[in-house]
Amino acid sequence: MSVVESPAQSWWKDAACQSRYDIPTFFPNEKDLKQTKKLKAVCNSCPVQAECFAYAYVHGEKDGIWGGAFYRERILMVTLLRVPRPISEASLAAYLHEFWDEDTDAT
Ligand code: SF4
Repeated sequence: MSVVESPAQSWWKDAACQSRYDIPTFFPNEKDLKQTKKLKAVCNSCPVQAECFAYAYVHGEKDGIWGGAFYRERILMVTLLRVPRPISEASLAAYLHEFWDEDTDAT
C-alpha cells in the first residue's frame, strides 16, 4: 500500500483517523516522539484499532502507525502475546479485541 491509499476494508469507514487527520500523517518519522505519541493516542481511542493492527500485521505493512504501533512494535506485541502463527486477519483482530477489552475491564 502506498502512503496515500487506504485499505478497502469494511472497518476503514469507522477509522478515527479518517475525519481528524490526513492518511500521510500516520506515517511519521519514528524518531519524532511528540508526533508519534499524539498519533498513537488517536489509535488508542479508535473503534477499529484491532482491525487496523491485524490488517497491517497480516499484510506486512512496514511503514507507518497502524493500530497504534509501528511495524516492529506489532511484531513484538504478537510475539509477547504468544499469538499462534500463522493467523488470519479476522482471528488476530478477534484475539486483540479480547486482550484489549480484558485490559479495559480491569481498569
Ligand atoms: S488504529 Fe489508528 S491508524 Fe488505524 S484506523 Fe484507527 S486511528 Fe487510523
